[in-house]
Amino acid sequence: MEFITLNNGIEMPILGYGTFLSNGDECEQSVCKAIQAGYRLIDTAEAYGNEVQVGKGIRLSGIDRKELFIVTKVNFKSYENTRETVLNSLKNLNTDYLDLVLLHWPFGNYYQAWRELEQLYKEKKIRAIGVSNFDPDRLVDLIHFNEVVPAINQIETNVFCQRQAEHEWLEKYHVKHMAYAPLGQGQQNEMFSNAVIVELAEKYQKTPAQIMLRFLTQQDIIAIPKSTNGLRIQENIDVFDFTLSNEEQNVLRGLDQKKAMIGTPENPDFVESAMKW
Ligand code: NDP
Repeated sequence: MEFITLNNGIEMPILGYGTFLSNGDECEQSVCKAIQAGYRLIDTAEAYGNEVQVGKGIRLSGIDRKELFIVTKVNFKSYENTRETVLNSLKNLNTDYLDLVLLHWPFGNYYQAWRELEQLYKEKKIRAIGVSNFDPDRLVDLIHFNEVVPAINQIETNVFCQRQAEHEWLEKYHVKHMAYAPLGQGQQNEMFSNAVIVELAEKYQKTPAQIMLRFLTQQDIIAIPKSTNGLRIQENIDVFDFTLSNEEQNVLRGLDQKKAMIGTPENPDFVESAMKW
Protein backbone atom coordinates (compact mmCIF):
# COMPACT_ATOMS: atom_id res chain seq x y z
CA MET A 1 0.00 0.00 0.00
CA GLU A 2 1.12 3.54 -0.69
CA PHE A 3 0.11 6.50 1.49
CA ILE A 4 -0.64 10.16 0.94
CA THR A 5 -0.20 12.96 3.51
CA LEU A 6 -3.16 15.27 4.08
CA ASN A 7 -2.83 19.03 4.72
CA ASN A 8 -2.97 18.46 8.51
CA GLY A 9 -0.13 15.91 8.45
CA ILE A 10 -2.35 12.81 8.72
CA GLU A 11 -1.42 9.84 6.51
CA MET A 12 -4.07 8.11 4.45
CA PRO A 13 -3.88 5.00 2.21
CA ILE A 14 -4.02 6.00 -1.47
CA LEU A 15 -6.30 3.10 -2.34
CA GLY A 16 -9.42 2.12 -0.44
CA TYR A 17 -12.61 0.16 -0.58
CA GLY A 18 -15.95 1.67 -1.66
CA THR A 19 -19.31 0.49 -0.32
CA PHE A 20 -21.98 2.33 -2.34
CA LEU A 21 -24.93 -0.02 -3.12
CA SER A 22 -23.50 -2.67 -0.81
CA ASN A 23 -25.93 -3.66 1.93
CA GLY A 24 -26.87 -6.31 4.46
CA ASP A 25 -24.78 -9.46 4.96
CA GLU A 26 -23.11 -9.00 1.59
CA CYS A 27 -21.74 -5.65 2.75
CA GLU A 28 -20.54 -7.06 6.07
CA GLN A 29 -18.82 -10.01 4.38
CA SER A 30 -17.22 -7.99 1.62
CA VAL A 31 -15.87 -5.32 3.98
CA CYS A 32 -14.33 -8.13 6.01
CA LYS A 33 -12.87 -9.73 2.84
CA ALA A 34 -11.49 -6.38 1.70
CA ILE A 35 -9.71 -5.77 5.00
CA GLN A 36 -8.33 -9.30 4.99
CA ALA A 37 -7.11 -8.69 1.41
CA GLY A 38 -5.13 -5.68 2.66
CA TYR A 39 -7.41 -2.65 2.29
CA ARG A 40 -7.14 -0.27 5.23
CA LEU A 41 -9.26 2.62 3.93
CA ILE A 42 -13.03 2.00 3.95
CA ASP A 43 -15.46 4.53 2.45
CA THR A 44 -19.10 4.65 3.52
CA ALA A 45 -21.77 7.35 3.96
CA GLU A 46 -24.83 8.13 6.03
CA ALA A 47 -26.80 8.06 2.75
CA TYR A 48 -25.70 4.49 1.88
CA GLY A 49 -27.59 3.13 4.89
CA ASN A 50 -24.84 0.57 5.52
CA GLU A 51 -22.70 2.06 8.30
CA VAL A 52 -23.83 -0.64 10.74
CA GLN A 53 -22.87 -3.43 8.29
CA VAL A 54 -19.55 -1.73 7.53
CA GLY A 55 -18.88 -1.59 11.29
CA LYS A 56 -19.74 -5.28 11.63
CA GLY A 57 -17.46 -6.18 8.70
CA ILE A 58 -14.62 -4.26 10.34
CA ARG A 59 -15.05 -6.17 13.61
CA LEU A 60 -15.34 -9.46 11.78
CA SER A 61 -11.98 -8.82 10.08
CA GLY A 62 -10.21 -8.90 13.43
CA ILE A 63 -7.91 -6.02 12.38
CA ASP A 64 -7.10 -3.43 15.03
CA ARG A 65 -9.19 -0.25 14.60
CA LYS A 66 -6.02 1.89 14.74
CA GLU A 67 -4.78 0.28 11.52
CA LEU A 68 -7.86 1.37 9.62
CA PHE A 69 -8.85 4.64 7.99
CA ILE A 70 -12.64 4.97 8.16
CA VAL A 71 -14.41 7.55 6.03
CA THR A 72 -18.06 8.51 6.17
CA LYS A 73 -20.15 11.38 4.79
CA VAL A 74 -22.94 13.54 6.12
CA ASN A 75 -25.94 13.64 3.79
CA PHE A 76 -27.05 17.15 2.78
CA LYS A 77 -30.46 16.55 4.37
CA SER A 78 -28.70 16.31 7.74
CA TYR A 79 -26.68 19.53 7.46
CA GLU A 80 -28.84 21.26 10.08
CA ASN A 81 -28.00 18.40 12.48
CA THR A 82 -24.43 17.60 11.54
CA ARG A 83 -23.16 17.05 15.06
CA GLU A 84 -25.92 14.57 15.91
CA THR A 85 -25.44 12.82 12.55
CA VAL A 86 -21.70 12.32 13.08
CA LEU A 87 -22.27 11.09 16.64
CA ASN A 88 -24.75 8.61 15.19
CA SER A 89 -22.22 7.47 12.56
CA LEU A 90 -19.75 6.82 15.37
CA LYS A 91 -22.33 4.59 17.03
CA ASN A 92 -23.25 2.84 13.78
CA LEU A 93 -19.63 2.12 12.98
CA ASN A 94 -18.94 1.15 16.58
CA THR A 95 -15.91 3.37 16.96
CA ASP A 96 -14.98 6.35 19.12
CA TYR A 97 -13.36 8.37 16.34
CA LEU A 98 -13.57 8.72 12.56
CA ASP A 99 -10.56 9.26 10.34
CA LEU A 100 -12.33 11.42 7.78
CA VAL A 101 -15.82 12.89 7.51
CA LEU A 102 -17.00 14.58 4.31
CA LEU A 103 -19.95 16.80 3.46
CA HIS A 104 -21.54 14.65 0.73
CA TRP A 105 -22.92 17.39 -1.56
CA PRO A 106 -22.72 21.20 -1.71
CA PHE A 107 -26.47 21.61 -1.24
CA GLY A 108 -28.40 23.32 1.53
CA ASN A 109 -26.78 24.73 4.63
CA TYR A 110 -23.28 23.39 4.06
CA TYR A 111 -21.72 26.38 5.82
CA GLN A 112 -23.36 25.45 9.11
CA ALA A 113 -22.48 21.80 8.51
CA TRP A 114 -18.85 22.71 7.85
CA ARG A 115 -18.61 24.71 11.08
CA GLU A 116 -20.04 21.79 13.05
CA LEU A 117 -17.50 19.48 11.44
CA GLU A 118 -14.74 21.96 12.37
CA GLN A 119 -15.90 21.78 15.98
CA LEU A 120 -15.92 17.95 15.98
CA TYR A 121 -12.45 18.03 14.43
CA LYS A 122 -11.20 20.31 17.22
CA GLU A 123 -12.69 17.91 19.76
CA LYS A 124 -10.68 15.13 18.05
CA LYS A 125 -13.72 13.04 17.24
CA ILE A 126 -12.60 13.27 13.60
CA ARG A 127 -8.95 13.21 12.43
CA ALA A 128 -9.60 15.07 9.16
CA ILE A 129 -12.57 16.78 7.52
CA GLY A 130 -13.38 17.34 3.87
CA VAL A 131 -16.02 17.67 1.19
CA SER A 132 -17.40 15.77 -1.77
CA ASN A 133 -18.83 16.87 -5.12
CA PHE A 134 -17.68 20.46 -4.59
CA ASP A 135 -16.88 22.33 -7.81
CA PRO A 136 -13.86 24.63 -7.54
CA ASP A 137 -15.89 27.83 -7.03
CA ARG A 138 -17.76 26.47 -4.01
CA LEU A 139 -14.61 24.92 -2.63
CA VAL A 140 -12.60 28.14 -2.85
CA ASP A 141 -15.47 30.07 -1.29
CA LEU A 142 -15.69 27.59 1.60
CA ILE A 143 -11.94 27.80 2.15
CA HIS A 144 -11.84 31.60 2.23
CA PHE A 145 -14.65 32.04 4.73
CA ASN A 146 -13.86 29.28 7.22
CA GLU A 147 -11.06 28.25 9.52
CA VAL A 148 -10.16 24.70 8.49
CA VAL A 149 -9.20 23.98 4.87
CA PRO A 150 -10.85 20.74 3.69
CA ALA A 151 -8.31 17.90 3.57
CA ILE A 152 -10.15 16.13 0.72
CA ASN A 153 -12.58 16.72 -2.11
CA GLN A 154 -14.10 13.40 -3.21
CA ILE A 155 -15.33 13.74 -6.80
CA GLU A 156 -16.16 11.40 -9.65
CA THR A 157 -12.86 10.70 -11.37
CA ASN A 158 -11.83 8.00 -13.83
CA VAL A 159 -10.06 7.77 -17.21
CA PHE A 160 -13.11 9.12 -19.03
CA CYS A 161 -13.74 11.89 -16.47
CA GLN A 162 -10.32 12.94 -15.26
CA ARG A 163 -11.03 16.33 -13.64
CA GLN A 164 -7.69 17.74 -14.72
CA ALA A 165 -8.74 21.37 -14.21
CA GLU A 166 -10.29 20.55 -10.80
CA HIS A 167 -7.09 18.73 -9.85
CA GLU A 168 -5.07 21.90 -10.40
CA TRP A 169 -7.42 23.89 -8.16
CA LEU A 170 -7.19 21.21 -5.48
CA GLU A 171 -3.39 21.25 -5.61
CA LYS A 172 -3.34 25.03 -5.38
CA TYR A 173 -5.33 24.92 -2.13
CA HIS A 174 -3.63 21.80 -0.70
CA VAL A 175 -6.80 19.73 -0.85
CA LYS A 176 -6.25 16.09 -1.83
CA HIS A 177 -8.18 14.63 -4.74
CA MET A 178 -10.18 11.49 -3.93
CA ALA A 179 -11.77 9.60 -6.84
CA TYR A 180 -15.17 8.01 -6.61
CA ALA A 181 -16.41 5.74 -9.41
CA PRO A 182 -12.74 5.12 -10.33
CA LEU A 183 -13.87 2.26 -12.60
CA GLY A 184 -16.73 4.23 -14.11
CA GLN A 185 -19.15 2.12 -12.04
CA GLY A 186 -18.33 -1.13 -13.80
CA GLN A 187 -18.17 -3.16 -16.94
CA GLN A 188 -21.14 -1.64 -18.68
CA ASN A 189 -18.74 1.18 -19.36
CA GLU A 190 -16.57 1.11 -22.53
CA MET A 191 -13.50 1.80 -20.42
CA PHE A 192 -12.88 -1.91 -19.95
CA SER A 193 -12.65 -2.56 -23.70
CA ASN A 194 -10.84 0.64 -24.63
CA ALA A 195 -7.95 -0.30 -26.97
CA VAL A 196 -5.36 1.88 -25.19
CA ILE A 197 -6.24 0.45 -21.79
CA VAL A 198 -6.39 -3.14 -23.05
CA GLU A 199 -2.98 -2.75 -24.72
CA LEU A 200 -1.40 -1.43 -21.50
CA ALA A 201 -3.05 -4.24 -19.54
CA GLU A 202 -1.45 -6.79 -21.89
CA LYS A 203 1.93 -5.09 -21.67
CA TYR A 204 1.99 -5.11 -17.84
CA GLN A 205 0.14 -8.46 -17.46
CA LYS A 206 -2.55 -6.61 -15.55
CA THR A 207 -6.29 -6.13 -16.04
CA PRO A 208 -7.93 -2.99 -17.49
CA ALA A 209 -9.23 -2.17 -13.97
CA GLN A 210 -5.70 -2.30 -12.57
CA ILE A 211 -4.41 0.05 -15.29
CA MET A 212 -7.22 2.53 -14.51
CA LEU A 213 -6.54 2.44 -10.78
CA ARG A 214 -2.77 2.75 -11.18
CA PHE A 215 -3.28 5.73 -13.48
CA LEU A 216 -5.10 7.51 -10.63
CA THR A 217 -2.77 6.59 -7.76
CA GLN A 218 0.30 7.60 -9.79
CA GLN A 219 -1.17 11.10 -9.94
CA ASP A 220 -1.61 11.25 -6.16
CA ILE A 221 -5.34 10.64 -6.51
CA ILE A 222 -6.91 8.43 -3.84
CA ALA A 223 -9.13 5.75 -5.42
CA ILE A 224 -11.89 3.72 -3.73
CA PRO A 225 -13.08 0.98 -6.12
CA LYS A 226 -16.09 -1.02 -4.95
CA SER A 227 -16.57 -4.72 -5.52
CA THR A 228 -18.46 -7.40 -3.67
CA ASN A 229 -16.65 -10.12 -5.64
CA GLY A 230 -13.73 -11.68 -3.74
CA LEU A 231 -11.47 -11.99 -6.80
CA ARG A 232 -12.10 -8.43 -7.95
CA ILE A 233 -11.58 -7.13 -4.41
CA GLN A 234 -8.08 -8.66 -4.57
CA GLU A 235 -7.49 -7.58 -8.15
CA ASN A 236 -8.24 -3.94 -7.36
CA ILE A 237 -5.64 -3.67 -4.62
CA ASP A 238 -2.91 -5.42 -6.57
CA VAL A 239 -1.73 -2.31 -8.41
CA PHE A 240 1.52 -1.29 -6.78
CA ASP A 241 3.97 -3.59 -8.57
CA PHE A 242 4.18 -1.68 -11.86
CA THR A 243 4.60 1.93 -12.96
CA LEU A 244 3.12 3.57 -16.04
CA SER A 245 5.67 5.67 -17.93
CA ASN A 246 5.14 9.41 -18.42
CA GLU A 247 4.40 8.76 -22.06
CA GLU A 248 1.78 6.14 -21.17
CA GLN A 249 0.19 8.48 -18.67
CA ASN A 250 0.00 11.16 -21.36
CA VAL A 251 -1.74 8.75 -23.72
CA LEU A 252 -4.24 7.90 -20.96
CA ARG A 253 -4.79 11.62 -20.33
CA GLY A 254 -5.94 11.82 -23.93
CA LEU A 255 -8.91 9.54 -23.11
CA ASP A 256 -10.55 12.22 -20.97
CA GLN A 257 -14.10 12.94 -22.17
CA LYS A 258 -14.56 15.54 -19.40
CA LYS A 259 -18.07 14.26 -18.74
CA ALA A 260 -19.26 13.07 -15.35
CA MET A 261 -21.78 10.18 -15.26
CA ILE A 262 -23.13 11.14 -11.89
CA GLY A 263 -24.80 14.53 -11.87
CA THR A 264 -22.67 17.50 -11.00
CA PRO A 265 -23.90 20.27 -8.72
CA GLU A 266 -23.95 22.90 -11.45
CA ASN A 267 -26.60 20.85 -13.28
CA PRO A 268 -30.02 22.16 -12.10
CA ASP A 269 -31.79 18.90 -13.11
CA PHE A 270 -29.49 17.00 -10.85
CA VAL A 271 -30.10 19.29 -7.88
CA GLU A 272 -33.87 18.92 -8.43
CA SER A 273 -33.67 15.14 -8.53
CA ALA A 274 -31.42 15.03 -5.45
CA MET A 275 -34.14 16.78 -3.46
CA LYS A 276 -36.33 13.67 -3.95
CA TRP A 277 -33.71 11.23 -2.55
P1 NDP B 1 -16.75 1.88 -9.14
O1 NDP B 1 -16.15 2.68 -10.23
O2 NDP B 1 -15.93 1.51 -7.97
O3 NDP B 1 -17.36 0.58 -9.82
C1 NDP B 1 -18.01 -0.42 -9.09
C2 NDP B 1 -18.56 -1.43 -10.10
O4 NDP B 1 -17.48 -1.99 -10.84
C3 NDP B 1 -19.29 -2.57 -9.45
O5 NDP B 1 -20.41 -2.86 -10.29
C4 NDP B 1 -18.29 -3.72 -9.49
O6 NDP B 1 -18.98 -4.93 -9.64
C5 NDP B 1 -17.47 -3.40 -10.72
N1 NDP B 1 -16.06 -3.80 -10.57
C6 NDP B 1 -15.28 -3.60 -9.47
N2 NDP B 1 -14.05 -4.05 -9.69
C7 NDP B 1 -14.02 -4.52 -10.96
C8 NDP B 1 -13.01 -5.10 -11.76
N3 NDP B 1 -11.79 -5.28 -11.30
N4 NDP B 1 -13.34 -5.48 -13.03
C9 NDP B 1 -14.59 -5.30 -13.47
N5 NDP B 1 -15.60 -4.75 -12.78
C10 NDP B 1 -15.32 -4.36 -11.53
O7 NDP B 1 -18.10 2.66 -8.71
P2 NDP B 1 -18.72 3.16 -7.34
O8 NDP B 1 -19.86 4.02 -7.70
O9 NDP B 1 -18.99 2.04 -6.44
O10 NDP B 1 -17.59 4.10 -6.72
C11 NDP B 1 -16.65 3.66 -5.76
C12 NDP B 1 -16.99 4.18 -4.38
O11 NDP B 1 -16.98 5.60 -4.36
C13 NDP B 1 -18.41 3.84 -3.91
O12 NDP B 1 -18.56 2.49 -3.60
C14 NDP B 1 -18.58 4.81 -2.78
O13 NDP B 1 -17.88 4.38 -1.64
C15 NDP B 1 -17.92 6.07 -3.41
N6 NDP B 1 -18.91 6.95 -4.10
C16 NDP B 1 -19.05 8.25 -3.65
C17 NDP B 1 -19.93 9.12 -4.23
C18 NDP B 1 -20.07 10.51 -3.71
O14 NDP B 1 -21.03 11.21 -4.08
N7 NDP B 1 -19.16 10.98 -2.87
C19 NDP B 1 -20.78 8.72 -5.38
C20 NDP B 1 -20.53 7.36 -5.82
C21 NDP B 1 -19.62 6.55 -5.20
P3 NDP B 1 -18.71 -6.19 -8.65
O15 NDP B 1 -19.13 -5.75 -7.27
O16 NDP B 1 -19.56 -7.27 -9.23
O17 NDP B 1 -17.24 -6.50 -8.74
